[in-house]
Amino acid sequence: MDGARRPSAALVLILLGPPGAGKGTQARMLQERFGYVQLSTGDLLRAAVAAGTEAGKAADAVMKSGGLVSDQIVIDILRDRLAAPDCASGVILDGFPRTTVQAQALDTMLSESGQRIDAAVSLEVDDGAMVARISGRYTCAGCGEGFHDTFKIPTKSGICDTCGGTDMTRRADDTVEAVGTRLAAYHAQTAPLIGYYGDHGVLQRVDAMGAIDEIATSLGHVVREATER
Ligand code: ADP
Ligand code: ZN
Repeated sequence: MDGARRPSAALVLILLGPPGAGKGTQARMLQERFGYVQLSTGDLLRAAVAAGTEAGKAADAVMKSGGLVSDQIVIDILRDRLAAPDCASGVILDGFPRTTVQAQALDTMLSESGQRIDAAVSLEVDDGAMVARISGRYTCAGCGEGFHDTFKIPTKSGICDTCGGTDMTRRADDTVEAVGTRLAAYHAQTAPLIGYYGDHGVLQRVDAMGAIDEIATSLGHVVREATER
């Protein structure tokens, strides 16, 4: 674990980008490499749906369609998770904020605890490639490792390279229709945050069309620069 920081100066890194840009893949790699905690509102919401909480019941249908869950639900879930002790050394926000209202709520939450955003990284990709990336992807239910019908096939068909599990799951919203809705929601509601964070002086752009390891290297540089400031 390199790049550790004092809790009072915990790293806050935001990953921005359309569905399929690789936010989750990169956030997991940064978590492993630096020890920061990946906070995915998508994962938190899917857990709420699975647990049948009030928030989960309210989110279920809109998530399946590819639309955005209400700001209030997402902000409440994120605030609770951010307050947990394991987040004290730093967090990578994956899928939050997704609207200007959420970005403003995050600014308020962070300033209340004396923190600030170190960097908001825009993962830059072509929309056309995203539909192919997303509609072929699936995940090992045992360990969360991601695979793809074309781009990342397990060494032995149907068997997870990481944990040996054979239970593979596909997300309910990884259909061609829902992906179209998710991309539209990204452009209408989330892409304006690129300007928002540009105005706040924390925006970094990273080309995310290359190989997973190359993108990880670029993000590693962003983290190092942020922690050395
Ligand atoms: P992706 O980035 O690939 O679309 P996520 O797992 O981040 O996938 O999110 C899945 C779904 O969860 C979104 O389509 C949306 O319905 C909901 N969701 C996740 N994060 C947010 C958020 N910050 N605001 C509103 N809805 C969200
Ligand atoms: Zn596995």
